[in-house]
Amino acid sequence: MLEFRRSFNCCKSFGCSNLGRVNSPDYTHDSYHLGFRALHCQRCGSYPPWVDDASVSQLLSQLLNQHFQPRVNTCPNCAPRLLIDQNPDFQHYGRTGAGNPRVRCKSCHKVYTLGRWTVNEHMPAILLALASATPPLQTMQQLEIAPKIYYQLLNRLAQGLRSWSREQELKLKQRPVQRLLSESQVLKFCGNRGLWTLASADADSGYILLHSHNASHQPMSVEGVYQSKPDSRLAQFDELSILQALRQRYDQTMQRSHFEELNLGELQSLRCGYLAKPALLAYAHFQALRVFSDSHQHIHHYLEQESCIRGAALMGCAERIHTKLAEVFYIIRHQQGETAIPPEGHNVGWWNDRWYPDEFGAYCPITSRHHYTHPFKLAAARACEDFFSYVRQQVPTQLKSLAPLESLFEVARCLFNYCHSDNLGQSPAMRAGLVSECLTPEQLLNTVAAALAGEEAGSKKGD
Ligand SMILES: [Zn+2]
Ligand SMILES: [Zn+2]
Repeated sequence: MLEFRRSFNCCKSFGCSNLGRVNSPDYTHDSYHLGFRALHCQRCGSYPPWVDDASVSQLLSQLLNQHFQPRVNTCPNCAPRLLIDQNPDFQHYGRTGAGNPRVRCKSCHKVYTLGRWTVNEHMPAILLALASATPPLQTMQQLEIAPKIYYQLLNRLAQGLRSWSREQELKLKQRPVQRLLSESQVLKFCGNRGLWTLASADADSGYILLHSHNASHQPMSVEGVYQSKPDSRLAQFDELSILQALRQRYDQTMQRSHFEELNLGELQSLRCGYLAKPALLAYAHFQALRVFSDSHQHIHHYLEQESCIRGAALMGCAERIHTKLAEVFYIIRHQQGETAIPPEGHNVGWWNDRWYPDEFGAYCPITSRHHYTHPFKLAAARACEDFFSYVRQQVPTQLKSLAPLESLFEVARCLFNYCHSDNLGQSPAMRAGLVSECLTPEQLLNTVAAALAGEEAGSKKGD
């Protein structure tokens, strides 16, 4: 059974034997030595900023509910989570008055009707409209359906796509190495509303595995709530040389009140949502990512250069770092990397991070420093960036409420993975070896419907 980390208040320094360990005798809690609330690790001298564990836990349970539940066509009482829990067996138990099969769960013995996921007459048009970035309002008018019906169908569409695609992703767990690329962006809507999103892709194929955001459906505590403060995101500095750009980015990190304090400027939540501090979402996101890897798998995390993402990624694999089963890297995309940084690397910034050149820009090992030799392969270095621009095309900026956003995100994720082709006609799912061709939205929907119907027929064991 997969267990998620509950406390994030521990040492986060690579090389310190306390990395990821809670309750070490070397710790002094609630130190204000550097002017902010922190933990002090006497063993390595670091002061990791204090993290509100309760807020991370709140965001993590929302994330798990969004992305791994509910599994279609299974016991609603046991509600097994996709990729996390086993599907309980059932036996047939007659039919309803309408002729639908009733079954009894072998695990909890509850009787339920098989709610078969089917394609409604409007669903193909809705999916096609989203794939071609037609605004939802226009689709509702064309189909002559009320907004309520449109959003119900959108939810069902997302539910089927999620259930089917997560089953495909099980195959990715069988690989010996899991290489994940993670980057963030701010998605803005009308009237200063918006949210911070974090995406993780399979770095070899560009397949998007997890796309989370910092808007909670429940109010956040005082410790967890985002309060608009001047934007502290690191700039790209594309106009500068790569070394100058890196130096500027380290300077920007040092100007924060503490290095994990990522602020997004003036930003309000969509209706029915409450914005959490971005760093707290990052901690939850990297816990949820553990769903995609088995305990024996070696993990590589490639990260946007952002301290709060770095801390969260280390906490997502701290135990594996100790057993040498995980490594973490920063990357930066820049046109100049290969020529401006010597192959033996160059130290930059207050922490003396060593950066190495590559085709996409440069990378910096955060764990196992100096252990990796050039060249360094990262096939899908632009995956998250491409996905973010795909999402920006599909999700209308007029959106006012948080409610439909997760369904829109899930549909965009599946369309991007299975229907969005590169210049060789390949989709991320093809490159990941999950399907043999790039699907049209209609083909995707037919495949999902056939698989979910087949799943039900195929599970008719125990009669
Ligand atoms: Zn330490
Ligand atoms: Zn059950």
